[in-house]
Amino acid sequence: MTAAPAWALELVATVCADAGVAPPRLAWRRRAGEASTGVTRRHDEIVAVRAGTDALDHRLTLLHELAHWLSPTASRVRRGRSTHHGRAFYAITFELYRRHGLTDADALRLESSRYRSALRHAAALGVPGAEVALAEHRAALRARPRRRWRVLVPEHRIRLECRGRWTVCGTCGQRVVGRNLARIRRARRPLRHLLMTAA
Ligand SMILES: [Zn+2]
Ligand SMILES: [Zn+2]
Repeated sequence: MTAAPAWALELVATVCADAGVAPPRLAWRRRAGEASTGVTRRHDEIVAVRAGTDALDHRLTLLHELAHWLSPTASRVRRGRSTHHGRAFYAITFELYRRHGLTDADALRLESSRYRSALRHAAALGVPGAEVALAEHRAALRARPRRRWRVLVPEHRIRLECRGRWTVCGTCGQRVVGRNLARIRRARRPLRHLLMTAA
């Protein structure tokens, strides 16, 4: 483990003093890649950060974990994603980001790259820019090209054939197994097959 940088220790002290809670210990490591990761272990009273190369992301990650540390219900709430990163959590988080040197734009960009739902909460909390970012995100989702399917083998009757230890459709060669096989064998009239592929 590396020693935590001075700015990080200072930030932990300031945030906790402001909130009137005892500070956690801060464990600091490096990791490859731009983004940092963090975890808060309440039982051990530790906030652990693995810092990537992006300095802004160090700060955001540490503040995110401190928001967990400050969240009053964090130990009682189920660790389900929605409550863990819910509205109450983000009310604390975005306030910390703003108070400790992140612009709203950076906070929204970095936080939502990890947790999509952050945008929705931020918009509801009135974080400037969140409404627009949310609308853009939704528009981008809508514009995303759908998977196109095309017919690989046109519709045909299924003719069951044995091929080695498998039963296949003699026309398209697709293996027929399990419940499908039972269904086809039971059928009074021959069933039909259409083989599609994603383009
Ligand atoms: Zn979190
Ligand atoms: Zn077939």
